[in-house]
Amino acid sequence: MKKLNNQRSHIGVKEKRIAEQLLGLHQHDNPHMRLPKYDYAGLRKGVVCTGCQSFMKHRSKKFFCSGCGIVEDTETAVMRSVDEYRFLFPDRKVTTKGIYEWCGMQGSSQKVRQILLNHFKRVGDGRSSYYVD
Ligand SMILES: [Zn+2]
Repeated sequence: MKKLNNQRSHIGVKEKRIAEQLLGLHQHDNPHMRLPKYDYAGLRKGVVCTGCQSFMKHRSKKFFCSGCGIVEDTETAVMRSVDEYRFLFPDRKVTTKGIYEWCGMQGSSQKVRQILLNHFKRVGDGRSSYYVD
């Protein structure tokens, strides 16, 4: 009986170690850690469709997906892309020019400026201005 008890406690310790190791491994499984290496210049610019992950086309104030047909208003699509931008590039400032480029938009960047003004607080003036929460 004593021998069995000892054995059991032995197994308990071993299991605990394995459990700890698995928990340790689990932390490495964090999606942030699994992102491949990337940089701003190397990533394709544009708004990605929520339905099928295709790049959407921007036309007449809407974003269209030719892959699955989803239509999204510019503000929703741009704000989604701002979230991605901030997640992927936490060190880059949110600027009108930056978001306009990131979204792969055509025509005037005034719409982007207005959307950013609607959702963020502008810091500074002119070309060097950027947006914060
Ligand atoms: Zn789509």
